[in-house]
Amino acid sequence: CGIVGYIGSKDAYPVVLKGLKRLEYRGYDSAGVALINGGLKVYKKKGRVADLEETLIGKDVSGHIGIGHTRWATHGEPSDRNAHPHVSNSGNFAMIHNGIIENYAQIKNELLKKGYTFKSDTDTEVLLNFIEDIKKNNEGTLEEALRYALKRITGAYCILLIDKDDPHTIIAARKGSPLVIGIGKNEHFLASDASPIVEYTKEVVYVNDYEIAIVRADELILKNLGNEKQTPFITKLDVE
Ligand code: GLU
Repeated sequence: CGIVGYIGSKDAYPVVLKGLKRLEYRGYDSAGVALINGGLKVYKKKGRVADLEETLIGKDVSGHIGIGHTRWATHGEPSDRNAHPHVSNSGNFAMIHNGIIENYAQIKNELLKKGYTFKSDTDTEVLLNFIEDIKKNNEGTLEEALRYALKRITGAYCILLIDKDDPHTIIAARKGSPLVIGIGKNEHFLASDASPIVEYTKEVVYVNDYEIAIVRADELILKNLGNEKQTPFITKLDVE
């Protein structure tokens, strides 16, 4: 139901956690975060953001790239294993998703036939492994695979995707579910609405439907699904 992402010079975890708390008003049944620092670390739990926070005391939450999610279950009961982020079969990619992939069942069947396994009952994990499978078969970039996958699915989504071997990039995409990107000094913030962002920057970009954002600390690239670059339209948040 809510997504948050951070990439930049700050520690990502406190920013993401605080952002998730700001999005609590939207309602949710579970929460989770993924961070990269050396390896990929994924923590998720049924319940409140504060419950997640408590279980993470003493755990390694370091890293300058992070994504976080509050879930409102649509496919699969609220549980630890259905909570986001999900991790792909290879262990390389982690993804969070708000929305619904309508044709997930058909794609899941194709992937099951290819030997993919699923740890959750979510439509999200299906989309993630679909992206991974496309990337493997085409030997292209993650961004290309995502673009191809998004052309094949129907439904609504805001997704954030990270690659454990690329700690400098968050790839985001949306259709139907909102996504705002805050522009800081050598850092970027991503969220479902501006409430997790306002305290850090007033400059934001509202990502349009069918756009993909490639977000690095010092760079924001927007493209449409046809791989054409789009000029980010920067809005100034009007807050007192
Ligand atoms: N459809 C996904 C799920 O059930 C995402 C739900 C959401 O928007 O939080 O896990």
